[in-house]
Amino acid sequence: MTDVILILNAGSSSIKFAVYPLGATAAPLIRGKIADIERDPVFSAIGADGTAIDMDMPKGIGATADHETLVSMLLGWLAQQRGDRTLAAVGHRVVHGGRRFAAPVLIDNAVLGELEQLIPLAPLHQPHSLAAIRAISRLEPTLPQVACFDTSFHRTQDRLAQLFALPRELSDEGIIRYGFHGLSYEYIASVLPEHLGDRAEGRVIVAHLGNGASMCAMKNRQSVATSMGFTALDGLMMGQRCGTLDAGVVLYLLQSKGLSATEIETLLYRRSGLLGVSGISNNMQDLERCDDPRAREAIELFCFRAASVLGGLVTVLGGLDAVVFTAGIGENSALVRKMICERLAHLGVELEPGCNESGALRISTAQSSIDVLVIPTDEGAVIANATSETVAHSPAHNKLSKLTSVGT
Ligand code: ADP
Repeated sequence: MTDVILILNAGSSSIKFAVYPLGATAAPLIRGKIADIERDPVFSAIGADGTAIDMDMPKGIGATADHETLVSMLLGWLAQQRGDRTLAAVGHRVVHGGRRFAAPVLIDNAVLGELEQLIPLAPLHQPHSLAAIRAISRLEPTLPQVACFDTSFHRTQDRLAQLFALPRELSDEGIIRYGFHGLSYEYIASVLPEHLGDRAEGRVIVAHLGNGASMCAMKNRQSVATSMGFTALDGLMMGQRCGTLDAGVVLYLLQSKGLSATEIETLLYRRSGLLGVSGISNNMQDLERCDDPRAREAIELFCFRAASVLGGLVTVLGGLDAVVFTAGIGENSALVRKMICERLAHLGVELEPGCNESGALRISTAQSSIDVLVIPTDEGAVIANATSETVAHSPAHNKLSKLTSVGT
């Protein structure tokens, strides 16, 4: 029987999970999530054949549903599902790896300590993955756990692409552009040759457009520049996040409007973006269905800003061979792809409307000088492979990597 690995992506409102065969690049055996964990957790899972698998949530779990309770329940449920197969490792999506972690790492107490230090850099994301890691270390102290970072993929960038124009000592202390969505970009980079042949090694911009959104400029399938910076707030307009903002606005909100730092954080991370501009929803699909002119304006601003950022990245790359759309909006919204690509016509981008509407893999015309592709991303597959490899190649496998009881 093949051993299995569990992949966890723990966020503030959901814990997404998948079970993969150890060492296999195959599709997951089970994929699911516990949604709405802050209010009334809802569990859903499907098997490899797409059929739903049930799990009864204990009554009243909503009131006590911290990450430890939910992860414990998940491990118990998985033990029933996996039968004779052994759970060999857990791989986590961790948003921030700072400057230190340019690759996946087996987690021990020292690593966990370093990841805790990065919480201020990703306050809305990092604590949840660390809570899941701690929960598993308490429940299964000898189970190897691997952290896979959203920042790692961008560590190939030149120093200039990572610097802010701030005093040198601040850059030295780590206030630099880290970039995010690296697990998604790594997946796209891995499949580009299948779709682009030799052009995969050329100048490619990947637009990861989901509720969180960013772009990555790649050459030789490595990150050269990206739109997110020190935090996941920078760059494109997003579902609830404002993206690039004149820092003077933050000063004005603080000094003239008297908002507190926490109020500004909530404003920029949760009340801006599509939600803030439309005043209706952070959800692109909802906005597309809505007749309200504010919904249309939010979509237009999203596309205008995306095209502007893309234009800047083209200059960094010194030209463009291909654009790839991915993630919820990139994969599903023909309207957003069309509105962005219309602004790229001067670069030689020409969309084939029928292919764009049907969400075909290649949506550019045969004459288009730039290939435009739609490729579904798969961050889970990247974490699964990285976890299998890290565990297989680690001399510290198992006992030495054991996490001792770790406090919060
Ligand atoms: P994240 O992983 O960042 O939470 P996703 O990648 O799941 O986000 O993307 C969510 C976004 O994708 C939402 O704005 C949603 O409305 C949008 N989306 C999903 N399907 C469609 C669709 N058919 N048309 C337009 N937008 C869609």
